[in-house]
Amino acid sequence: MQYSAWRIFTQALKGNSGWKPVWRDPDPKPEYDIVIIGGGGHGLATAYYLSKVFGQHKVAVLEKGWIGSGNVGRNTTIIRSNYLLDGNQPFYEFSMKLWEGLEQDFNYNAMVSQRGVLNLFHSDAQRDAYVRRGNAMLMSGADAVLLDRARLRAMCPFLDFDNARFPIHGALWQPRAGTVRHDAVAWGYARGADQNGVDIVQNCEVTGLLVQNGRCDGVETTRGTIRAKKVAVCVAGSSSRVMAMAGLRLPIESHVLQAFVSEGLKPVIPGVITFGAGHFYVSQSNKGGLVFGGDIDGYNSYAQRGNMATVEDVCEGGMGIMPMIGRARLLRMWGGIMDMSMDGSPFIDRTPIDGLYFNGGWCYGGFKATPASGYCYAHLLARDAPHEVARAYRLDRFARGAPIDEKGVGAQPNLH
Ligand SMILES: Cc1cc2nc3c(=O)[nH]c(=O)nc-3n(C[C@H](O)[C@H](O)[C@H](O)COP(=O)(O)OP(=O)(O)OC[C@H]3O[C@@H](n4cnc5c(N)ncnc54)[C@H](O)[C@@H]3O)c2cc1C
Repeated sequence: MQYSAWRIFTQALKGNSGWKPVWRDPDPKPEYDIVIIGGGGHGLATAYYLSKVFGQHKVAVLEKGWIGSGNVGRNTTIIRSNYLLDGNQPFYEFSMKLWEGLEQDFNYNAMVSQRGVLNLFHSDAQRDAYVRRGNAMLMSGADAVLLDRARLRAMCPFLDFDNARFPIHGALWQPRAGTVRHDAVAWGYARGADQNGVDIVQNCEVTGLLVQNGRCDGVETTRGTIRAKKVAVCVAGSSSRVMAMAGLRLPIESHVLQAFVSEGLKPVIPGVITFGAGHFYVSQSNKGGLVFGGDIDGYNSYAQRGNMATVEDVCEGGMGIMPMIGRARLLRMWGGIMDMSMDGSPFIDRTPIDGLYFNGGWCYGGFKATPASGYCYAHLLARDAPHEVARAYRLDRFARGAPIDEKGVGAQPNLH
């Protein structure tokens, strides 16, 4: 079913009775060319680009719950390409360009909203660091503007500029950054992949990997054995658990990250704002709720819920830059499991086991990466060679002494 203004009009006249299910609900076949484990944003995007760009149609996505039940439906929806390091910036800018054409590409309204991201700075040293980051962004073709206090005040008069502890001196602004409706991204990719012949199999948990003589030939699932020429793991917070089925250990720890939504308010936040002296980020949804978050909970967990100490820390961050947030009532909150890598950067790579591929380590920034991650993983799976913007995302980079230490905290995911 194609969507158009005309179809919305005619459906309105028919009481919306003519819409069809957006993707099929197939039983798994005994064999595929490529099996993707994980029906999150990255797994579905991979299937979409495999079938659309790389001519692979014997593909299945196996999801243990329902698609969108993982982090793709739990994140705070921020997209941006404001990275510093060579290994990362071109990749995230590639992703931003894919976001910009995504809705036309898969004919689905994902509410891509380029309302801008403001990273506040609070000291001269931090301003210098942001100038450097902005220059790296410009060199990769991204957009970056340094705002002084007066320009920032004109945009966001409600910020606490003269907070004694964290005075706000200005911001690094990426006007093309913004937000996207997260679950619609999963649905749009699922619909597109399904139309291209991909089987999206929900309620199908992978319980084992068929590995023999250094080769992976398929998977054991709760719906039977499925053979595959290539098995592509793409399970975000469950990465360590699934890769352990093949006896592989990863430089990844799983932590909880929480998100919060306030009651609906009149429009007040112009885009996304991030606190530079603590960890807090906020935007406003189209329904008016303030959508915000902060640090991960500082302990390892596979539970999709967090604890109160982090709630307090996040709210303190909000009060630090915009005290008016203290008047808003919290409507709901939830948690998701983060696959925190030891340098803050992801992996898209083959593994030492033939036929087994890995995509993960997205930390709390993988939503914005969804289109590029899917495209580059599809490239790797179809051509057995990394895409040029994802060359640095190798599993052996720590052994080679080549981490992409974007967050600068090394082996301390609790400090990301
Ligand atoms: C609260 C929160 C806020 C965030 N905010 C942002 C943000 O603003 N911007 C940003 O860029 N990123 C953000 N992120 C991070 C981002 O959501 C993730 O990095 C990204 O969604 C991970 O990729 P995914 O969509 O494929 O993961 P998921 O949606 O988690 O997909 C993985 C899937 O694998 C499935 N699975 C696991 N094990 C198995 C198995 N054995 N068999 C079959 N299926 C299995 C899971 O059920 C799940 O559906 C946030 C995350 C959270 C939780």
